[in-house]
Amino acid sequence: MGRYIGPVCKICRREGMKLFLKGARCASEKCGLVRRNYPPGQKGGDRGQKKLSDYGQQLREKQKAKYIYGIYERQFRNYFRKAKRMKGITGENLLQFLERRLDNVIFKLGWTASRRLARQWVCHGHILVNNRKVDIPSYLVKPNDRISVRREKMMKKIMETTGGEIPPWLELDREKNLARVLRFPNRDEISLPIDEQLVVTLYSK
Ligand code: SF4
Repeated sequence: MGRYIGPVCKICRREGMKLFLKGARCASEKCGLVRRNYPPGQKGGDRGQKKLSDYGQQLREKQKAKYIYGIYERQFRNYFRKAKRMKGITGENLLQFLERRLDNVIFKLGWTASRRLARQWVCHGHILVNNRKVDIPSYLVKPNDRISVRREKMMKKIMETTGGEIPPWLELDREKNLARVLRFPNRDEISLPIDEQLVVTLYSK
């Protein structure tokens, strides 16, 4: 299945939780889940009555992760393959790959209000890594990478959005809008509503 491009709020409504796919709107009263807290296609009220099979739950968990990071099945599966070959816990390795994506890092730095917008910034060539333009959203950051924006215009946009807390594996000089990757993220620093073990079970079949 490709990257989901339909009305994204439906995904949150189906999952019954905020996945923060739309930027500023997600924190507002206009959030689709706040307005209609029941699965799409239902009139509301029967949430929780449908019990998913084990397979259904695993599938749901994988879809959720894909939607949150906005990536394709093939790419997701590639991350899983690499994660499995690495030392350590496969599920945690998988999440670490997702979290290290450049588009995710831009979002985590608070430079954009959503991962989608961060992906656009990267694709449009607004982002520098170690003073070189990187326009690949799936670029995986590594310790000591220095991340900055290319144009004055984008700096101003950052000023308007920056402010929140950033994860401890990243460092940000807010005056210069210069970020540095200190180390790889730990599992407990990846705050996502995903049970990665279910994803691993699904792919291990
Ligand atoms: Fe999900 Fe954001 Fe839409 Fe709310 S506004 S339903 S959090 S995508």
